[in-house]
Amino acid sequence: MVSFSDLGLSASMLATLATVGYSSPTPIQSTTIPAALTGRDVIGQAQTGSGKTAAFAIPVLEQLDPSRADVQALVLCPTRELAAQVTLEFGRLAQGLTVEILAVVGGDPVRRQLDGLQRHPAVVVGTPGRILDLLQRGNLSLRSIRFAVLDEADRMLDMGFAPDVERILQQTPKERQTLLFSATVPGWIHRLVERHMRDPETISVSGQTELVSTVSQWCIECSWADKVEALALLLDSPRVTCGLIFTATKRNADMLHTILLGRGYDVTVLHGDLSQQDRDKALSRFRSSKVRFLIATDVAARGIDIDDISHVINYDVPASPEDYIHRVGRTARAGRDGVALTLITPIEILKIRDIENHTHRAIERHTLDDLRQLAGTVSTVVG
Ligand code: AMP
Repeated sequence: MVSFSDLGLSASMLATLATVGYSSPTPIQSTTIPAALTGRDVIGQAQTGSGKTAAFAIPVLEQLDPSRADVQALVLCPTRELAAQVTLEFGRLAQGLTVEILAVVGGDPVRRQLDGLQRHPAVVVGTPGRILDLLQRGNLSLRSIRFAVLDEADRMLDMGFAPDVERILQQTPKERQTLLFSATVPGWIHRLVERHMRDPETISVSGQTELVSTVSQWCIECSWADKVEALALLLDSPRVTCGLIFTATKRNADMLHTILLGRGYDVTVLHGDLSQQDRDKALSRFRSSKVRFLIATDVAARGIDIDDISHVINYDVPASPEDYIHRVGRTARAGRDGVALTLITPIEILKIRDIENHTHRAIERHTLDDLRQLAGTVSTVVG
């Protein structure tokens, strides 16, 4: 097995990794870090949960010049939540260095970010809209950038940030090193790579980001009209201590939220149409266990990094096996057990077969009648 000391890291970084408790590199780290340390552009195909943040943070931090007072690295993230997590991870890994890491995201007061820029951060982590805003106001210059990281590039495309990302990259020096991370590589990313990256090395760990062995999987077949009843039977189980419920659309998320609140469930909701303040509030209540259930859409859940999620419940079947893996990856983290429950209508059974073929793991089948019969002992059904 590869160890961090095989990757050509400094003694100070090795000491930091020991302090934060990372004993060995994850697959995306052991492959990306040596490539990025050579100064080469890298495309990393990996999902959240694979350790990808440290995969780019470590080589960037290793190559920073602490004597410089200008912004040396720019990290673009699709959401404010992800930017916050990336900033936190950068900060943890930078503890042996005297460099400042600044988050520049929409929703935060601009004044605080301007003050932050006065402190000469070496690394700026931000969402494209706010970064572009500061560039246009002349408050931020990227002329001295040596590293540009595009995190979850496919989600930046989904969220309509593609033109902003291109405009931002145009304002950075051509000689910079570019690291791009994305779970999928749609056409725009191919074009972006052609226009903005130099001879990149592509590293894919998709094989290793399959489901972890500690997750149990069930699907519950029921009619569309019975979905709420099936969900309620599941939520009534005391085993579901912290449940993340996925819907396909923001509208479904809002509808389900209203229905569950009406039935007295302890639930909140997270999706892209909510104000930043409401999203922060929902996430922090869920994170601190003030609320037991969180309803979310795929995009909104991208940055959720909570180790205690006991159950992921797919109220709507995910659009693709990759989305399924990504959703289910929110539970059974850090070696814990987790359960994935998917509600399916009879015509959706093929989607479950697709997921099984893709993951090479069987999903246990149950019916709503099974749930009703077991209602008294439903805890045995849901893990
Ligand atoms: P990420 O994919 O960057 O969101 O990371 C997922 C989680 O794994 C985060 O909680 C990280 O702190 C953690 N992590 C990253 N690298 C390692 C490692 N080498 N060993 C243990 N945990 C790690």
